[in-house]
Order: sequence, then C-alpha cells, then structure tokens
Amino acid sequence: MQIELINTGAELLLGRILNTHQQWLCRQLADLGYLVTRQVCIADDAPQIQAAVRDSLSRADLIVTTGGLGPTSDDLTRDLIARLLERPLAFDPQVLAQIEQYYAQRRRVMPASTRVQAMVPAGARVLANANGTAPGLAIEVNPNPFRPETRRSWLVLLPGPPRELRPMFSESVVPLLLREFPQAAPYACRTLKTTGLGESLVEERIAGPLGKLVSAGLELGYCARIGEVEVRLAARGGEALALVRQAEEIVRGLLGRLIYATDDGTLEGGLVQSLTEQKQTLALAESCTGGLIAHRITNVPGASAVFLCGLVTYSNEAKQELLGVSAAALAEHGAVSEVVARQMAEGARRRCRTDYAIAVTGIAGPGGGGEAKPVGTVFIALAGEKGTVAEEHFNPFDRETFKYVTSQQSLDLLRRALLPTGGS
Ligand code: ATP
Ligand code: MG
Repeated sequence: MQIELINTGAELLLGRILNTHQQWLCRQLADLGYLVTRQVCIADDAPQIQAAVRDSLSRADLIVTTGGLGPTSDDLTRDLIARLLERPLAFDPQVLAQIEQYYAQRRRVMPASTRVQAMVPAGARVLANANGTAPGLAIEVNPNPFRPETRRSWLVLLPGPPRELRPMFSESVVPLLLREFPQAAPYACRTLKTTGLGESLVEERIAGPLGKLVSAGLELGYCARIGEVEVRLAARGGEALALVRQAEEIVRGLLGRLIYATDDGTLEGGLVQSLTEQKQTLALAESCTGGLIAHRITNVPGASAVFLCGLVTYSNEAKQELLGVSAAALAEHGAVSEVVARQMAEGARRRCRTDYAIAVTGIAGPGGGGEAKPVGTVFIALAGEKGTVAEEHFNPFDRETFKYVTSQQSLDLLRRALLPTGGS
C-alpha cells in the first residue's frame, strides 16, 4: 500500500514552524502497520498544491494533506482539490451549524469569512473538528483519473493546527483507514520506553536474547532520545501478537525497572498515576532545572491531586530562607553538593508538608564549573518518610539539554522509589 503525506504551509519552509505533522502522522500510521512511502512539504501556492496532489494521486492509495483549510486568503487546499477533481463545492448547512455552535460556546462572534469552511466538495465525507472550526474532508477518488489501473484512491484533508489534526486523525481517519484498507495480515506493535541506560547498552542486553524471535519475524528497533531509549517491537502475520508479547516479556525480564512507560506513556504521567494510586503527595525544590520538573508534572491532567508545591530556589539566600538550608553547609560544601541537595529536599518536604520532595542543584554552565565540580555536575535528592536518598549525575550538555536530562533523572528517582519493592 502506498501512502503519501503532503504538508502545506509557507511557514514550514521558512523554518518558522517545525513540521510536527510529518513525525506524528508517520508514527501513528507506522504503529498501526501502515508505512508512509513519500512525504513532501510545499508552500500554500495554488500550482504547487495541485501539482503535488495530482502527482500523489498517480501513485498512492491514500494521500493525506495537512493545512490550508482555514478561512484566510492563504488557505487554498479545499478549493484547489475540488477543482482538481472537478467536484463542485456545495454549501453544507450542517457544517455551518457546527461552526456557529463552536463560536457560540466560546461566546465569540463568528467572522463572515468562516462560512467558506462549510463548503464541501461533492461526495466528500466531513470529518468533525471538535477543537476548531475547519472540518477535515475525506474523499474517495473512484475512479481515479490519475491512476486508471487501480481505479481508486482516498484523499484525506486535515487542518493545520496540531490540536485539531491529532484528535481528528485518531477519531475519524483511523477507523476509515481500518475499514477501507484492512491489513492483509495482522500487525502488532509495542514500544517500551527506558531511561537510565544508553542505546548501545540497551541493545547489548536485549539483542542476543531476542535473536530467535527476530529470526521468526520480529522487527526490533531502537530510538535514542535525550535521556531515554525506546525499544520498538513489531511483527506482522498470524503470530504477530504472540511474537510481540513474547518479546516484551523477554525485554521486561532483562530491563525490568528501566522501563518507565509503554507506547505513548510518559515518565511524568506514570509518576502522577503512581502517586495518585498510593495517595502520596509531592513537593519540589528546583535550582538548576528552573521549574522544568514542575512544568512537566503540571502538564499531566490530575496533577493537582498529588503535586502541592514547587519552589525554584536559585540563590543561596532563597535556599536558606525558603528551604532552611544551613549557612554552614553552603559555606563548607557549596550550593552544588550532596549535603545541600539533601537539605533542600528535606526542607521542601517539611515546609510543604508532603510525603515526598525532590530537590536538584547543579552546574548548567557554560560558566561556573571547577575542577572538582565541572559543568554538568548535578545532585538530586529525594526526601520521603523513610529518609533521604541522593544521587550524583554528570550531564555535560547545553543548558536546555542539561535541564531536560536532569528533570528526567529526578522524575525517575521518584518513579523507582515508588515501585513495589523500592530502590533501583
Ligand atoms: P487555520 O484555520 O488555523 O488557518 P488551517 O487548516 O488553514 O487552519 P494552516 O493555516 O495551514 O491550517 O496552519 C495553521 C497553523 O497550524 C500554523 O500556523 C501552524 O501553527 C500549525 N501547523 C500547520 N501545519 C503544521 C505542521 N506541518 N506541523 C506543525 N504545525 C503546523
Ligand atoms: Mg490557515
């Protein structure tokens, strides 16, 4: 099956916006066993859009376009595709009613220009947009004049904003895809997310033991990101699910506690869930991460049940005043030290009256490093009912990467502490 993705938008080619649709859609499709065979990015320009769609229609079974469904002058996709397919646009009062309702719910006046979004090419299926005004469109091009030998193709038009495109894809496009293009053979895929071990070490541990399953058809892939490594297990055919399950069991046996989530799960999401289940609360005392850990935790819906307070104590004075870090510890060991990290965590736990508190202190650089404590040195402490533990890490990266990796290690320290038998 040939699938082609056409991303439109001048801002993508000007480098002003990252083309996240390319990654997100390819990933969603791949996890369902559909591989995108070609992807192009073009500006909102009439001849280019028509040429790209015509070109894709000559090859592909499924073509997905993104962007250009809005009401502004650069939003041309709907119109151009209707013309290319010689399908007249007709006004759909039901779509307009939905758009009007969208504005009414937000107590905003609907601009007259929005009406164009209720124009639907003949024979197109409307994909509801719960998070915006421009509906998506799905068109069965049958017969396909640009590819007479196979007769039919599907063309799916999705809106540009990610928060509109993503739910629309999951809710409307995936069911259509499964119905119109059922997999010839069953497909199974599982992603295991790990932290705490580099890519080659992960591979070293699992590649050998999985060898037999790989020979039996298991696809094994690794994806290294900042502070984590993903292991992707996939298989096709009658035994796909059994093969992937068996592989997961082997990987879990070998990596165990290093696995923090599966598929789309996140470290912070899992942590909030564990804290909620265990009815435990958390406070944070952040120095070098500048609030990033609090940011990540508060991205999780329901975080307020467990996360009570985060303090960004950057100066020595703030560490003393707000967390009760002792002047002696600062003078003797310095702000970036295990002793201070422990005092910060214990101070935050006491002050915020939580079950746990995490504290981080480190040297992000580029200045401030020394021989004993070079740039990248970090101390992370976790205070809990049973006492305080601390870890030293070395993250010699640019500031942003440093902050992310440190937040990852901090969240992971608590994740491991919350596991049934504790420790690492
Ligand atoms: P709107 O009604 O908002 O105009 P639209 O369907 O016309 O929606 P575009 O105008 O092409 O979509 O894009 C709207 C916004 O969506 C862009 O400014 C950008 O923020 C985001 N966007 C569009 N395409 C992408 C992409 N490929 N990756 C990430 N974000 C994108
Ligand atoms: Mg637009």
